Amino acid sequence: MLKTLNELENKAMLELPGATSEDALNELRTRYLGRKGLLTQMLRQISGVIAEERPLFGKRSNEIKESLSHAIDEALEKLKASCKNDVLLKETIDVTLPGRAVRLGHLHPITRVSQEICRIFARMGFNVVEGPEVETDYYNFEALNIPKDHPARDMQDTFYVEDNIVLRTHTSPVQIRTMEKMKPPVRILSPGRVYRPDSDVSHTPMFHQIEGLMVDKGVTFGDLKGTLTYFLKQIFGDDILLRFRPSFFPFTEPSAEVDIKCVMCGGKGCRVCGQSGWLEILGSGMVDPAVFENVGYDPEEVTGFAFGLGVERIAMLKYGISDIRLFFENDWRFLEQF
Ligand SMILES: [Zn+2]
Repeated sequence: MLKTLNELENKAMLELPGATSEDALNELRTRYLGRKGLLTQMLRQISGVIAEERPLFGKRSNEIKESLSHAIDEALEKLKASCKNDVLLKETIDVTLPGRAVRLGHLHPITRVSQEICRIFARMGFNVVEGPEVETDYYNFEALNIPKDHPARDMQDTFYVEDNIVLRTHTSPVQIRTMEKMKPPVRILSPGRVYRPDSDVSHTPMFHQIEGLMVDKGVTFGDLKGTLTYFLKQIFGDDILLRFRPSFFPFTEPSAEVDIKCVMCGGKGCRVCGQSGWLEILGSGMVDPAVFENVGYDPEEVTGFAFGLGVERIAMLKYGISDIRLFFENDWRFLEQF
């Protein structure tokens, strides 16, 4: 009987190295040591063992049970450790591989053109100021010499928030807010978003404007022409031809629109310039005395000029873009080109 017991132990120990997975080891344990296992079955036969041998038989079975169980535990431990090693080996970082480049974004073309314009005027001593996009009717219209029921209001379709609150239709309110706060001389540039209910290939309900204002003693229309000529040559190159064309704005008198010789066709006439050979580029004029009175400046003492331009329009001409809506579709294929 003891002999059978020893044979069983040998058999189990021989099988052990063959069990190379967790499942196989658990199966081995169940097969030998489980409730219906081979060793357990053998112990049940103890009644068939002669009385003198029984204690030895019991002791021996317990030894086998313990050593086999211990051996299986050890094998399981080893298996787990080697699995962990495998995972670590598989997950090693190959330091010789080239790095994965981080995709860097860049400034939106509108931002770039805005910044370029601001830099040009900064060189002429203009400071950048900003103001609210939701404005009162007073700052957006009345202070700029556009009273209610003035026909000039028809020139600018407007988003109304409430009766007397609008989304600003231009950045001119910033000029009023600035003049209210400071005495002349004033030399400011106000870039920002403005809103008008328009949408087609050359209009979006939100667009960007930059306005400039210079007020001091003895500022003349000659200063306006010189400043804007310098600016447009900086943007479009020294060869650019420009003309000042009489116009009307409620807040300036006299007023002029500035055209440049079409950059697309060189003046021969094309679709972009409507066959005229000229492109409207900005509006300007000498500040109306009524505006000065609204902010407490003495029009007998100071004069000034103001101008405004659409950033999208400049960007479209600079980069040869035919549809303004492309700027706001956030299509990478478009934006990546700048
Ligand atoms: Zn043209």
